[in-house]
Amino acid sequence: MGERATKSHALGALEKLETYESKVRSYSRSFPALFSRARGSLMLGDDGRKFIDFLSGAGALNYGHNNHGIKAAIEGYLASDAVVHGLDVATPAKLQFMETFSSVILRERNLQYRFQFTGPTGASAVEAALKLSRKVTGRQNVISFTRGFHGMSLGAVAATGNRFYRAANNASLPGTTFMPYDGYFGATVDTASFLRSLLLDESSGIDSPAAIIVETVQGEGGLNAASKDWLRSIQTIARDVGALFIVDDIQMGCGRTGAFFSFEFADLSPDIVVLSKSLSGYGLPLSMLLIKEGFDVWRPGEHTGTFRGNNLALVSATAAINLYWRTTSFSHGVQRTGKLMQRRLEAIASRHGNHFAVRGRGMALGLDCPTPEIAGTTARKAFEKGLIVERCGPDDRVVKFLPALTIDLETLHEGLQIFEESLAEALKLEKWH
Ligand SMILES: *Cc1c(COP(=O)(O)O)cnc(C)c1O
Repeated sequence: MGERATKSHALGALEKLETYESKVRSYSRSFPALFSRARGSLMLGDDGRKFIDFLSGAGALNYGHNNHGIKAAIEGYLASDAVVHGLDVATPAKLQFMETFSSVILRERNLQYRFQFTGPTGASAVEAALKLSRKVTGRQNVISFTRGFHGMSLGAVAATGNRFYRAANNASLPGTTFMPYDGYFGATVDTASFLRSLLLDESSGIDSPAAIIVETVQGEGGLNAASKDWLRSIQTIARDVGALFIVDDIQMGCGRTGAFFSFEFADLSPDIVVLSKSLSGYGLPLSMLLIKEGFDVWRPGEHTGTFRGNNLALVSATAAINLYWRTTSFSHGVQRTGKLMQRRLEAIASRHGNHFAVRGRGMALGLDCPTPEIAGTTARKAFEKGLIVERCGPDDRVVKFLPALTIDLETLHEGLQIFEESLAEALKLEKWH
């Protein structure tokens, strides 16, 4: 088949897909191609087109697509007929994961936690964290932050700021009070002391919280990065008001910001850490809570689920830790590449006066555009040129850069080059001054 024939074959398949799949589908609309294979930072279309992936499964593929080092562990496990699904029965794979995670990740950082494997989605882990906090404290209210994102199930979406997601429920979403995130009112307003005043005032109208849940960088909310001082203040406030301090590290954890946990730079010690997305290292679903020992007040079987701690995902998660986290070189590499990306994006931004802003930390960066149309047209043009890049934040105004942490510099620069050209084209088409 010629290139044109294969392309129309792919489009035909997409049209067929649309007749089967619910209207709720979303990424297949932003990225209209039939993706058949993937490796590292590249995805291949059925029609032979090549795409550089700057989305990485929304942060579920920090080590790239089909990482061969991790894949070998999965293949070995499958070949040996070891237990793949066993509810939450004890398996050597689970023990090995917890031992490896404890010695390589936790002990090195002076952290000590119990592991709770929840249902496979991030949202189900968030639900478990909120439920446990309410159980520990006997309180109902939870403090979350403007533009925070914690998932789509009722409890998790109640703690999510976005009105589009909230409105889809047509249900009341109680039990959460939103407070302004770091920088919400500009750099000069200290929103942590605002929170402290409200929580310490017996007549503020805000119920004492069971938990304060926070992202150190808001992945869906526009790559807003909280400062070290602000995060430390929020942790102190939680302690002072008797609330559990939860860090939702689902998207920013597993090395995305440079360190394994995104809160390491601020030297935090959360009561609960929520991990999912890149935890399995291979895009397999795996979610868990890390719980400070004293707060592990669950009764046996009180929070359950069919798919908890899937063994195949635990095997790949162990392999990822062994491959990337036994020394500091991977982490340093991510920090270096993050700085490089940041400088490049700042250079692109500065070419257009002060209408753009670069946000984020490590290899989680965003370019805040003057209008949603500019961000949208840029992403569409980029896809036509072979770059997968997503938007997020208020009105989808922020172009989001989440390349695999393992991306080689040549591919990274090629992707950024495509982005820069796409932005230039978008600025010619969209009115913005
Ligand atoms: C993706 C995400 C979730 C939800 O995870 P799902 O697997 O989509 O349920 C929760 N919190 C954060 C910070 C996320 O990025």
